[in-house]
Amino acid sequence: MAALRVVLLGPPGAGKGTQAKLLQEKFEACQVSTGDILRNAVADQSPLGKESSEYIKRGALVPDSIIVKLVTQRLKQEDCAKSFILDGFPRTISQAQSLEDMLKKMGSELHSVLSVQVPHDVIVARLAGRRTCKNCGALYHLSFDPTSQEGVCDRCGGELRQRDDDREETISERLKVYDAQTAPLINYYRQRGLLREIDGVGNVEAIRDRVIRALGDLVT
Ligand code: AMP
Repeated sequence: MAALRVVLLGPPGAGKGTQAKLLQEKFEACQVSTGDILRNAVADQSPLGKESSEYIKRGALVPDSIIVKLVTQRLKQEDCAKSFILDGFPRTISQAQSLEDMLKKMGSELHSVLSVQVPHDVIVARLAGRRTCKNCGALYHLSFDPTSQEGVCDRCGGELRQRDDDREETISERLKVYDAQTAPLINYYRQRGLLREIDGVGNVEAIRDRVIRALGDLVT
């Protein structure tokens, strides 16, 4: 199978995590979700978690230096050697520049950046109903993708929880941060000829088909 090295770019709630998991399975790529890594670190009360938890709670970005170190370590691991899906990174121009540098040092480069576009009102509805399995990390939505038994993961029977930063007051802060700090990456990657854009409104399968179509030539 051809190598696939992509960034999924989009506001919180655009469906990056869901699509990254699907791509990971289909293309045998490693999925690097900086949000997941940070949340696990917070749950483990590790030094990284202690440093990051206040930023996450507020809906602010964790400092670039912490994030870049974390991604550099992750991309050096064996399962990322050929293909990777970056989900939630880069989130600032400075992180994008660091990514370029780190890949250059590794003799590697990005193939594409997929921008998933979703209007803010759809995002608010998605995030407010989003639930995650505490045990296996599977993603659900109270209205759009409910579990068969309320509060219980269909896959592993684990308990579902709502992310602290998916509460309404933090959602608007995260969207402000996205507009100010992350949205400029769309032009940054467009100028580099790496950007592909898809409509992120619709059900999981419809969006998955758009993702595959948008990346299709890279993997055949
Ligand atoms: P996510 O799960 O991608 O929505 O990330 C959840 C939270 O983790 C964000 O609101 C930030 O506080 C933090 N975070 C995740 N990725 C990054 C990143 N690349 N740069 C800075 N902070 C991040």
